[in-house]
Amino acid sequence: MKGLLLCVCQGTCPSFQNMNIFEILNTLRREGLVDFVAIHPQLCADDGDNFLSTLLSANGKIDKLYIAGCDPKMQVKMFRDAFEKAGFEKTKHYGVDIRNMDTVKALETIKKIIKDTDN
Ligand code: SF4
Repeated sequence: MKGLLLCVCQGTCPSFQNMNIFEILNTLRREGLVDFVAIHPQLCADDGDNFLSTLLSANGKIDKLYIAGCDPKMQVKMFRDAFEKAGFEKTKHYGVDIRNMDTVKALETIKKIIKDTDN
């Protein structure tokens, strides 16, 4: 099972102001590119850790988790504890940097990573 989470720095960061996050998620849903989508306002906060560790430990079926938001290298560091807590293998996480993109570019970038990791 593949899932995609969108994280947008509480919706206040200018990096995410030029895209329509609902249009992005609806397109991915309509095209069936992932099995579920969700938006979280701040995954790197304590409740974001709770969200990730609950989602990932409650569902051992997640083979790929795409997180579209900030720098993938930062994501690796920020989510390490939550993944460890859930027993989620970090190689199943694919960070997608969509900062400063518009809707079309963000969608293109997300779709490319999903296709490139399709195996
Ligand atoms: S995980 Fe990244 S995109 Fe999400 S709130 Fe933290 S810094 Fe922003």
